[in-house]
Amino acid sequence: MDIFPFYRNNDTEVYLFILPPYGVNTYVVMKNNTIIVVDPGKGNDLLFNSIDLGKYHKKGILITHTHYDHIVGLKEYSDFEIMIPEKDENGLIDPSANLSYMFSEDFKLKIPYKELYEGYYDFGEFKFLASYYPGHTPGSMIYDFGDFIFTGDFIFLDSIGRTDLPYGDEETMFHSLEKFRDYLKTKKDSVLIMPGHMNICTVKDLKDNNVFLKYGGKK
Ligand SMILES: [Zn+2]
Repeated sequence: MDIFPFYRNNDTEVYLFILPPYGVNTYVVMKNNTIIVVDPGKGNDLLFNSIDLGKYHKKGILITHTHYDHIVGLKEYSDFEIMIPEKDENGLIDPSANLSYMFSEDFKLKIPYKELYEGYYDFGEFKFLASYYPGHTPGSMIYDFGDFIFTGDFIFLDSIGRTDLPYGDEETMFHSLEKFRDYLKTKKDSVLIMPGHMNICTVKDLKDNNVFLKYGGKK
């Protein structure tokens, strides 16, 4: 099957796969010898059949937060360097934190991984900024690659991540929205927002459509 990138610039390409169990947006970013998968859902066969992983030397997986639907596919990957927000690592071992109990599963994962803290990271051909935007989970991170930002379940085109689930916190989410509103002032309107569910949009689309963002997180 042919697949088409959502983003292409020079040697960088970003592909989107929408995977079960909750239609998570699993992204694949590649440039020359580097490949990064963001939030692998379940059933990555199409991805494996479409992309020749063997030709990449530097292989990583970035997790925006440790809810079940965003980490369930980790087991399907081997020889990838897994990177997880330090403040969200509880979700790897706690089914009430990763919400797998809602799927009638008792999901726990014992894997080697690298803890991410706020700051810039170099990974192969890429440099990205990791920042905390908690509220949906205590350690939700977004990853800014310059022309595109992976926002996980922090923010979507016209909504925000739920705060009523275990470990979610509405007040914390409001602070994150204020922080993000300020941050977006430094970003071009054309920068792509790549959320954990639903549609990819631009920074301008977000500013025009997201009332949570517009009113600084206050309802
Ligand atoms: Zn989530």
